[in-house]
Amino acid sequence: MANSNAKHKLNISGTWYCTDPDDENGEGCVGCSVCSANADDFFAEDDNGNAYIKRQPITANEIELCEEQKEACIVSAIGNDGQSDT
Ligand code: SF4
Repeated sequence: MANSNAKHKLNISGTWYCTDPDDENGEGCVGCSVCSANADDFFAEDDNGNAYIKRQPITANEIELCEEQKEACIVSAIGNDGQSDT
C-alpha cells in the first residue's frame, strides 16, 4: 500500500507519489502498468517497469484521472500526501 516513507526516487516533487517496490513491507508498486497505460501524462515506468509520478496533477480533471489510477492500483501503491485515504 502507499507508503510516504518509501516513495519511488523518481517521483517528481509534490503530493502525489508511487511507492517504491522495495518498501519495508514489500507492498509497493508491482509494475502492473495500469496507471502508466491509463494516465501516461502523470505516471511513467522506470527501467524495471515500476511506476513513478512524472507530473503532478493540477486541474480537477487531472486530479480525477489520478484518483482513478489510485483506486485502480491493485496494491494501492499510489499515494497523495495532501489527501486522506479514508
Ligand atoms: S497501478 Fe499500482 S502496481 Fe500498477 S504500475 Fe501503477 S503504481 Fe504500480
